[in-house]
Amino acid sequence: MKVLIRGAGVAGLTLAHELATRGADVTVVDKRSEIAGNASWQAGGMLAPWCERESAEEAVLTLGRGAADWWDAALTGHVCRRGTLVLAPARDARELDRFGRRTSGFSQLDACEIAALEPALAGRFGRGLYYAGEAHLDPRKALLALRDKLLGIGVRIDFGRCAASGYADVEVDCTGIADRRSELRGVRGEMLILHTGEISLARPVRLLHPRIPVYVVPRSENLFMVGATMIECDAAGPITARSIMELLGAAYALHPAFGEAELVQTGVGVRPAFADNLPRVERDGTNIRINGLYRHGFLLAPAMAGQAADMIFGNPAAKEFALEAHR
Ligand SMILES: Cc1cc2nc3c(=O)[nH]c(=O)nc-3n(C[C@H](O)[C@H](O)[C@H](O)COP(=O)(O)OP(=O)(O)OC[C@H]3O[C@@H](n4cnc5c(N)ncnc54)[C@H](O)[C@@H]3O)c2cc1C
Repeated sequence: MKVLIRGAGVAGLTLAHELATRGADVTVVDKRSEIAGNASWQAGGMLAPWCERESAEEAVLTLGRGAADWWDAALTGHVCRRGTLVLAPARDARELDRFGRRTSGFSQLDACEIAALEPALAGRFGRGLYYAGEAHLDPRKALLALRDKLLGIGVRIDFGRCAASGYADVEVDCTGIADRRSELRGVRGEMLILHTGEISLARPVRLLHPRIPVYVVPRSENLFMVGATMIECDAAGPITARSIMELLGAAYALHPAFGEAELVQTGVGVRPAFADNLPRVERDGTNIRINGLYRHGFLLAPAMAGQAADMIFGNPAAKEFALEAHR
């Protein structure tokens, strides 16, 4: 079975992995000259199905709870399973109650328990929610490692190329926001990368705020990803001054040490989303499309890749599961 995948974002690469490990002959093409710069490159890398349920449908939890296992099996050593900590400044304590009412899979923490989990935050927050089952990874390292693994198992990956149709038995469109064939919309996400050795965190921390909820995801080498804005537009231009101020302000509210951090990078990605904010695997003859991963690319791409691979290899049970999960 020859499969051509357009798009080397998280959707395309996870599908390539799924198909290659099931024996398909896979080629991936991407119009970019390298992976860097697509929406997947800008992601926080949180595998947080319970937290995401706060604003997402049950399907996101159902489809996303196996994501950490998938990434762990595909890329051993990349997944960090230390849960997610959710906090709110004292004046926004009601946000914590609201978040808790809309989610499950957490335990309530008091100030001592927060300090035990994250010593750097000792004395700063009286209450928090801890989602022990959640995980995270560094999306850039994961994408590069996945690319290398795919090359190692015989997948061809051509950057700087948009292949012509008719090349393969099945063609799969994983072009994210560049796919203009349907009702896809863009949701712009801006992020920062800070560098500081003055604070260390073991896990993603979400800081709730009625208008500007943000998260800080620790990465190696004293780097912290701070994200992300959610702006209903598909403009991919540079981050705005306002967004930088808001993201930095929130990081500073989490811990003043971020005020002394170096701002080493800013990034903008456009999340592809359908009206219901749920992803779709669609089929039209020998053409398949995976899109609409919205703010859940790393979380849901493994499940979408599994469904698409089942379609390609003709497993009807999986198609029913896909429909069921989206109801
Ligand atoms: C700031 C931010 C933070 C996020 N944080 C998280 C998070 O913590 N956890 C999570 O799960 N998700 C997160 N997301 C969401 C996630 O990044 C997206 O859902 C995901 O990247 C979408 O992946 P994709 O492969 O569909 O699109 P993309 O990553 O955009 O990849 C599409 C690829 O297709 C290529 N392409 C376009 N047109 C063509 C063509 N004609 N031919 C060939 N190639 C083409 C593009 O060059 C691109 O490389 C975040 C997103 C943003 C912006």
